[in-house]
Amino acid sequence: MPFGYHGCYLRIDVATGSATRVPLPESILRQHLGGSGLGARLLLDEGGASVDPLSPEAPLIFAFSPLVGSPLTTSAKFAVVSRSPLTERFNDSLASSGFALAGKGSGCDAIVIVGRASALSVLVIDDGRVRLEPADDVRGNTCAAAEETLRARLGAGFRIASIGPAGERGVRYATISHDGRHAGRGGSGAVLGSKNIKAVAVRGTQRCEWAHPREVVALSRDLSKRSLGPATAKYRELGTATNIVTFNRFGTLPTRNFQSGTFEGAENLSPAQLAADHPRTRASCVACTIGCEHIYSTGSGGVRVEYESLFALGSLCGVSDSDVVLRASKRCDELGLDTISTGGTIAFAMECVERGLLDEPWLRFGDGGAMLKAIELIGAREGVGALLAEGSRRAAETIGSGSIAFAPQVKGLEIPGYEPRALQTMALGFAVGTRGADHNRSGAYEVDFSDKVERRNATLESVRYAIETEDRAAIMDSLILCKFLRGVLTDFYDECAGMLRAVAGWDVTADELRETARRIVAAKREFNQRAGWTLAEDTLPERFLTTALPNDAAAVLTRESQSPKPKSQTTSP
Ligand code: SF4
Repeated sequence: MPFGYHGCYLRIDVATGSATRVPLPESILRQHLGGSGLGARLLLDEGGASVDPLSPEAPLIFAFSPLVGSPLTTSAKFAVVSRSPLTERFNDSLASSGFALAGKGSGCDAIVIVGRASALSVLVIDDGRVRLEPADDVRGNTCAAAEETLRARLGAGFRIASIGPAGERGVRYATISHDGRHAGRGGSGAVLGSKNIKAVAVRGTQRCEWAHPREVVALSRDLSKRSLGPATAKYRELGTATNIVTFNRFGTLPTRNFQSGTFEGAENLSPAQLAADHPRTRASCVACTIGCEHIYSTGSGGVRVEYESLFALGSLCGVSDSDVVLRASKRCDELGLDTISTGGTIAFAMECVERGLLDEPWLRFGDGGAMLKAIELIGAREGVGALLAEGSRRAAETIGSGSIAFAPQVKGLEIPGYEPRALQTMALGFAVGTRGADHNRSGAYEVDFSDKVERRNATLESVRYAIETEDRAAIMDSLILCKFLRGVLTDFYDECAGMLRAVAGWDVTADELRETARRIVAAKREFNQRAGWTLAEDTLPERFLTTALPNDAAAVLTRESQSPKPKSQTTSP
């Protein structure tokens, strides 16, 4: 068994309660690392591409990494991998904190869950021993309440990942939550709910040896020191919420279901204004020196706010009341809803109402009360909430009348807070992303905002940059390190290879890791191909390809611009 790994995964059938330890060959671990990469490999091998994601046979995978348990900053993370019930394609979402440490302490590198329990249950994994317990006392509970109740029942040593009411009811973008963080995108909460599992509780004491402990400690000290430098200052001091002002200034802030890139209420949602109106504290994930979390008080407890939630529940729905946006974000966390897909689907419905395609006259852009009501209906799958719980693509298929043209999604996944017409390297990343429109797998907006490309005019260089950001994300999501660390790593592949050498003892090089990145991305694409992907899916909604951005006439995308020309053939800004 290599250092840093247990060399096996735990395969649990919750229909029977049986558990098997399946060996993982060293070659598989070296080729796929852990997290998203290992999860992709296991999902392929388990046949996840050919089964309905909400069927008992569908595998749901919690995948850990070789760095979990080391002092390397931001490494206490886990990946949740499955076929998405929202997109029907590959889905991986990451979350942080003690669940990663306790899960790896169970003596395995991944947990694969199949089957369906006969009644709502808690899956308990106690130092590798598996049992199911009734979950009647936490049925309908919010994620945080379920976690608190189960820790009181099972013991403080347990770490718990749970679903909220939305996951129990099969909302297609339900989250799995742990310690206030969320494996958010793509509906892994609905997959766990379909297995009649309310929560997974883990406790474990099994530790992995490191190949070169002194080097691990030295690298960790150096990385921690550098993580406090200027590359992360923005995250520490203001949080990602500051993007709302920056993006508005550039005219790239998606507003009213992508009908504009500027929002007149953006300043109300700025970190300065949020902090003026709502007492703020800072926090961090376990084993993180950066501490990017900014928790704002809502009067009924705090809510951790990121740019993506602010844009989706703010400008995208035309809502500028910061109190409403914070309450909406908190309610999504409680119900176990992905904020981007929630905001995107509600904004789509608001435009349908505006165009007379949906008979819900109360659901209007800018009406914060209506947005809060819609969130409740989605969580309960009641009224129009039953339609919106399916996500914007399926809702558009039901509503018809050409509404799919402005459903804000790629492959069914609602688009994050980056206007594609004005950020065209990012647009490319969105179009080809294996998970759908995905800012976590394509960080190409950073390239768009640099002087490397002209952001309104994609070139072949844009293609290269889009590939580069996707490859780096594949390594970060597999090792697993927080994306906010990316600016700290000066020689990305070389430094990542150094960490892996110190932990696992392999003579891995930067070039080998480049190859590993491509292998992991290819595994995700292979999954999609087996699941029915066609080239026609790698595109953007019609709106973006036929209409210029209203606030920026130069921000135009066409079908032809999806086949970029060399830089010399394009016009200058
Ligand atoms: S930088 Fe933020 S998101 Fe990343 S590990 Fe630290 S606290 Fe968590």
